[in-house]
Amino acid sequence: MTKKSLTISIIIILIISIIISYIYLYININNQNSSPINSTIEKDNDFITWVDFNIPYNALEKSMNIDINTYNTEKHISWIDILALLGTKYGGKWSKYSSKDMNNIIKDLKNDNMNKDNKYYSYYHQVYTAVLGNFISNYEIESEDTLNTDNPIYTSKYGLKAYSPIPYGYNFSHYDDFGNSRSFGFKRPHLGNDIMGNIGTPIISIESGYVENIGWNQYGGWRIGIRSLDKKRYYYYAHMKKDSPYIDGLEKGSLVNAGDIIGYLGMTGYSEKENVNGMTKPHLHLGLQLIFDESQKESNNEIWIDVYQLVKLLQKHKSPIIKDEKSNKPYRKYRFIDPLMREYINKESDSE
Ligand SMILES: [Zn+2]
Repeated sequence: MTKKSLTISIIIILIISIIISYIYLYININNQNSSPINSTIEKDNDFITWVDFNIPYNALEKSMNIDINTYNTEKHISWIDILALLGTKYGGKWSKYSSKDMNNIIKDLKNDNMNKDNKYYSYYHQVYTAVLGNFISNYEIESEDTLNTDNPIYTSKYGLKAYSPIPYGYNFSHYDDFGNSRSFGFKRPHLGNDIMGNIGTPIISIESGYVENIGWNQYGGWRIGIRSLDKKRYYYYAHMKKDSPYIDGLEKGSLVNAGDIIGYLGMTGYSEKENVNGMTKPHLHLGLQLIFDESQKESNNEIWIDVYQLVKLLQKHKSPIIKDEKSNKPYRKYRFIDPLMREYINKESDSE
């Protein structure tokens, strides 16, 4: 064998072994993909894992009014349907929003002329239901005539049931600060909206739910986490007032109604030590987490959404409060009945 043919043989052997190892790798990867473990993971992940909520305020307001105004008509048009159809049209890019597009969709919905049979529509419908599903509904509110009597009369309403986190008569300011960088402890994005107001401003529960977390947290200070009754949303209110963060009697498991006072605005947090004012300016940090599957609640894949446009929308519904003359403590002015709360309490007592 000449030196030349020896070199050629070595090269051929090398090429063959490379080809064989590639084939081996390919078979292995394919086997892995069809293994029972992987298909279980795929099956378990059969829920939404990513959401970018960016519907502008004017689209929220307009679709909400259509929903409310068509409620007692032959053709009730749901704002979630309108928004899901627009979300599908824009591929989630709401910067493309025009009110003309919404008018066309409303017209088509009225004529039952909409195709809702595709996976994108289904995705947006699930997402917008998770965020807005309990914002508009029936509720009962105490009427002015029987205020502060032992026999309140309630008026039934259909409309915006969720409340502004800041009550009627109190000022605040905010801007869209979702995703801004934060550095206390470790670098992370800001997963909420900072609502700047005066210390002691009452804080209102946006939605009815139960207290899931309450007490000191080194980042949020005196904070409270309220889970919606359908368990899909977790509202996080943080940096509450030093010394008296919450209203009396509130504890883990307490039920709160939409519009109830839960505590007071402050500037606590950013401290491992309890009851320390670690913020530079008084404000409420408001966060909203979506939970499609319980495994997402406390994980590396938590879904926090931008609430800025929602807080703007909720200015349409501020809870009026009054102060008790003796204790000087505020309480909500009109008693309120949330049918979902009644349902929840009945269900809980049935299962006991
Ligand atoms: Zn914040």
